[in-house]
Amino acid sequence: MAFYGSFTAAVALGISASLIGTCIMHDGCHGAYSASPFVNRMMGFGMDLIGASTYCWEAHHNTGHHPFTNLVTSKRGNMMGKSKKKFVTQENDPDVFSSYPLIRMNPYDEWRPHHRYQWLYAPLIFGGFTMLKVLYNDMVQVFVHGRVNSFISMEPRLSMKSNYIRALCMKCLSLVYMLFLPIHFNGVATGIALFAVAHFFCGIILSTMFIVTHISDNCEFLFHDNEAKLVTAPRKPLQSNWAAMQCRTSTNWAVKSTFWTHFSGGLNHQIEHHLFPSVSHVYYPYIQSVVESTCKEFNVAYKAHNSLFDALYHTLRWLYILGIDPCDDNLDRNAVHESGKKFRMEPKTLKTRSKSRRKGLSKSVVKKCDTIMHHT
Ligand SMILES: [Zn+2]
Repeated sequence: MAFYGSFTAAVALGISASLIGTCIMHDGCHGAYSASPFVNRMMGFGMDLIGASTYCWEAHHNTGHHPFTNLVTSKRGNMMGKSKKKFVTQENDPDVFSSYPLIRMNPYDEWRPHHRYQWLYAPLIFGGFTMLKVLYNDMVQVFVHGRVNSFISMEPRLSMKSNYIRALCMKCLSLVYMLFLPIHFNGVATGIALFAVAHFFCGIILSTMFIVTHISDNCEFLFHDNEAKLVTAPRKPLQSNWAAMQCRTSTNWAVKSTFWTHFSGGLNHQIEHHLFPSVSHVYYPYIQSVVESTCKEFNVAYKAHNSLFDALYHTLRWLYILGIDPCDDNLDRNAVHESGKKFRMEPKTLKTRSKSRRKGLSKSVVKKCDTIMHHT
């Protein structure tokens, strides 16, 4: 009986932690919770309380995800220690694409055989992402590298010793109440299991509400070739400005639902959030119709799903499509064709048995993908 009580408490902790992440911390770290910077900073502490470092989150979310949504750049260089001649992609949006190579979310990443099954196993991995962040990612980013990835540095914040101390102390405090106390009262195996259960519920709730807003067959994926100075899609100036790009790479879901607006902390109004990140999520329902009508006026795509389940379906379908082997003779072209024409594969271009061609998306394929995606 005691175990079921502890299990229920672990589930409740996971759900509560996800609510702190969406409804309190997210607004606080965007400076949207209050007019007072001090209050916003205190709300940002909510992230530390549930085990993750605010500094890391602000770096990859505010510095990476918001300005570079769904963006991948190409680069010739020795990233990851590879040949200088090799063409590599650099993922500029660490919130969205951080799970590669386990999950292939954007069409410019190299396809690998296990991606065939990603639409099945991806939800399980999403459930583990907060635990991975708390126990591994934060540690490496703050205490080892001092940066999120090759282009996002946390040096300005971490140059202050007090910020290191805050990150370390809050990490220890969260581990005490989320891991060590359950172990103390329930034993090692049960304590670790309860920790995992809490994180699984937190991770699956957070990631589901977030991932569907950018990883979907009705969102666009942008590519910037540093050598060719080519950015995908923006054929017309208006379509390529910052606000239009935010709309094209994001999608809303269940915007009419008061419950989901508050439970998700406004994540269901993702387009409004990306346009006005420093506005509290409680105001998004009031500006939603204005944003939608403005997009319509200027012929900018405004995408929305009626429900979270509908949005999730389109996310899993996108993962399914990106899991198809581009060189497969038995390619299910009907399924691909019905995918909203986002990533229709052309046999003449992608069907090849050359091993060198199979290794990664070559520049020509990337350009072909670009052409396909933005002329359909
Ligand atoms: Zn945000």
